[in-house]
Amino acid sequence: MTTDRAAARNLGGPPAAAALLDAATRLAATLPVTPSVAFIRVGDDPASESYVRGKAKKAAELGLHSHVHALPADTTQADLHALIGTLNADHGVHGVLLQLPLPAHLNADAALACIDPRKDVDGLHPVSAGLLWQGQPGLRPCTPAGVMALLDHYQLPVAGQHAVIVGRSALVGRPLAGLLLNADATVTVAHRATPDLGAVTRRADLLIVAAGQAHLITPDMVRPGATVIDVGINRVPTDTGKARLTGDVHPDVAAVAGALTPVPGGVGPMTVAQLMMNTVQAAQNQTAHDQAA
Ligand code: NDP
Repeated sequence: MTTDRAAARNLGGPPAAAALLDAATRLAATLPVTPSVAFIRVGDDPASESYVRGKAKKAAELGLHSHVHALPADTTQADLHALIGTLNADHGVHGVLLQLPLPAHLNADAALACIDPRKDVDGLHPVSAGLLWQGQPGLRPCTPAGVMALLDHYQLPVAGQHAVIVGRSALVGRPLAGLLLNADATVTVAHRATPDLGAVTRRADLLIVAAGQAHLITPDMVRPGATVIDVGINRVPTDTGKARLTGDVHPDVAAVAGALTPVPGGVGPMTVAQLMMNTVQAAQNQTAHDQAA
């Protein structure tokens, strides 16, 4: 189906990200220390290099301190844990972020579990996940928290809404389910074993797609007027040979949805902005703890 008219409200990421960055900057200005985050990257994966560079650049723009620890591809698990231990013990470091994926010989879960939960600015430590599911305060994974900030920025209702999430990864789908539940949505999580995905997604007031499958969601799978958040980032080849970024949601969904995030320029900018906010909040928590000690 091809449509010539986009009806959905465009939920652009940059204005919402700017508001979140502004809030992070204002909070940082109230602290007695400059928030500081350490990035750990292992090997030569160009995407990881580029992501870490982007995060460090954004930290610098906000006046936060950051340091990139670039480890060789043959780094051992013990060496990685030792570096994390050193950063955990360093009072000048408030956040520790391990850039994923790691080379195949390293166990990411074991390494993530070594990070001091108070410094877990990516929100992927089991303690952070537990706090989220218990509805207690804690550091939240950046992409799901960024989605919540985006919904908040555009004043889209969450409480009482039926939210359907496509995807159940530890990075996006699962924590998003917890955040939406904490915000009083009724939550359904779909995955590859879900029969008749369209029947499930059509029931959503709020449809959030994080599957990593280009154009998985077509207009017939969306209830008219629904809010659709497209987390997916897929690289598809073009005629010129250069890859183009596209989401998990077919562009024609714009004719059916009430509101839709673009890809690129939707959820992506929120992820980095939320990381900055998490770094500032981690610094705030640690300075409050140090002062109380
Ligand atoms: P994963 O591959 O870890 O998880 C994908 C999830 O989607 C799985 O739970 C999988 O189900 C489900 N899924 C895949 N295909 C289907 C299908 N056909 N029907 C139903 N469910 C399906 O990916 P991530 O969660 O890490 O990332 C998801 C997408 O979000 C990717 O495109 C990624 O690039 C993007 N992303 C974007 C970010 C941003 O800043 N905008 C940040 C992080 C990720 P099952 O569990 O059954 O296998």
